[in-house]
Amino acid sequence: MLLPRPIHRAGMKALICLLATAAASAHAGPIPDELRASAAALRDSALEGSPAYDIVESLTMEIGPRLAGSPGDRAAVAWAVDKLRELGLENVRTQEVEVPQWERGTLEVTLSGTNPMQLAATSLGGSVGTRASGIEAEVVRVESLEDLQSRGAEQITGRIVFIDRRMERARDGSGYGRTVPIRLYGAREAAKLGARAVVIRSVGTSENRVPHTGTQIYDLSVRRIPAIALAAPDADLLAWRIATGETPSLRIRSTARQLPPTTSANVIGEIPGRVAPDEIVLLGAHLDSWDLGTGAIDDGAGVGIVAAAAHLIGRQDMAPRRTIRVVLFANEEFGLSGAREYRRMSDQELAAHIIGIEADFGAAPVWRFSSRVAPAALDLIAGIQELLAPLGIEYGNNEAGGGADLRPLRTGGMPVLSLSQDGTHYFDYHHTVNDTIDRIDREEINQNVAAYATAAWTAANLERDFGRLAVEPRESR
Ligand SMILES: [Zn+2]
Repeated sequence: MLLPRPIHRAGMKALICLLATAAASAHAGPIPDELRASAAALRDSALEGSPAYDIVESLTMEIGPRLAGSPGDRAAVAWAVDKLRELGLENVRTQEVEVPQWERGTLEVTLSGTNPMQLAATSLGGSVGTRASGIEAEVVRVESLEDLQSRGAEQITGRIVFIDRRMERARDGSGYGRTVPIRLYGAREAAKLGARAVVIRSVGTSENRVPHTGTQIYDLSVRRIPAIALAAPDADLLAWRIATGETPSLRIRSTARQLPPTTSANVIGEIPGRVAPDEIVLLGAHLDSWDLGTGAIDDGAGVGIVAAAAHLIGRQDMAPRRTIRVVLFANEEFGLSGAREYRRMSDQELAAHIIGIEADFGAAPVWRFSSRVAPAALDLIAGIQELLAPLGIEYGNNEAGGGADLRPLRTGGMPVLSLSQDGTHYFDYHHTVNDTIDRIDREEINQNVAAYATAAWTAANLERDFGRLAVEPRESR
């Protein structure tokens, strides 16, 4: 399935023309006229060009896959330090982070029978392997975690559980959230009932023989069993065999293994504030990626968007009132290690984080802007929305999640903004071998940079802030 790129491209050209006419209507609002004018000019210049695509190209082509703790991850940290400096950011530094380390090894999944068939499959993050000779067992199909939990141990013990649940395609990516529990908890729940392994239908929307990886979570009090995802057509094949009344068996051989924890780092750079340098407007993305592709949409795109936005802000005639801080988080994918480490700060430091904006959903055009700010600051949000509207962005609501890496800060009271990329095709490539730079369009990523730069610049130049959110209890995982 192809991206509707020609449409986006034509749309983007029309948009650039529209901007000139949309700018002029002066009126008194919560955002001073001068700031509105500079934000609009910054937005329009980002649409005309930004270094975002080149940043992602450099990261994916020169470094490539960067699974937490791997040599690629270490190379990415050094790359990011150099790149942020090259882009004109100041105070560029690293913050050491302990990360888990896992090795995928090799995997073979074979449908047994008179004509054995190799299935397209991949180990889920953190999965244990099998003994060298592999395991072979009958397959029992369930349709969901709830279906699995309702089965008696006699149906599951000694078998391989196949969780066959399809993810729905959606612009806001909501199908992922509804389906991903089968990946996160499938092995744990199957092991409780005595299963020998779990295979799931990939939690993605690719219709190709491209399996989708991602993290999964064991329960340390339960035996750890191999956790594997099948590509959609291979899951179809297995389901078809079962539907015809067969009780198929799978043979699985995997050398996946956990290694001792190691160190990685958050990479931080700033455009220092002119008036209130201690007040932070945070732009976040994650530097690590899964190992199958080269981490272009997840999350090279985010790195490119936030670094380019900060670069363009750094080139303005005047520095922003507050500091723009770019944080490229370590190990988002495999346990949010970088976000947790970054959160270790005093209450005073946390309170100085005025607002956070994260980019971690690819580089298709941003279509929706949501916020989570104190109600008293909603007039400022309306003012920012007015600046974003010419980019084709509509307002969502004041219940923004803010993204995984910002969650520890948000639950500590920091307001967040969400700029939502169109996720219709995101899960065709995300966490697969096809997460490569050719999925990113230069003009689309510049629309993203325009949105992020506009929001960050405006937030960093306001005299007012966005209030604080109610502090939520810290979760332990
Ligand atoms: Zn990501």
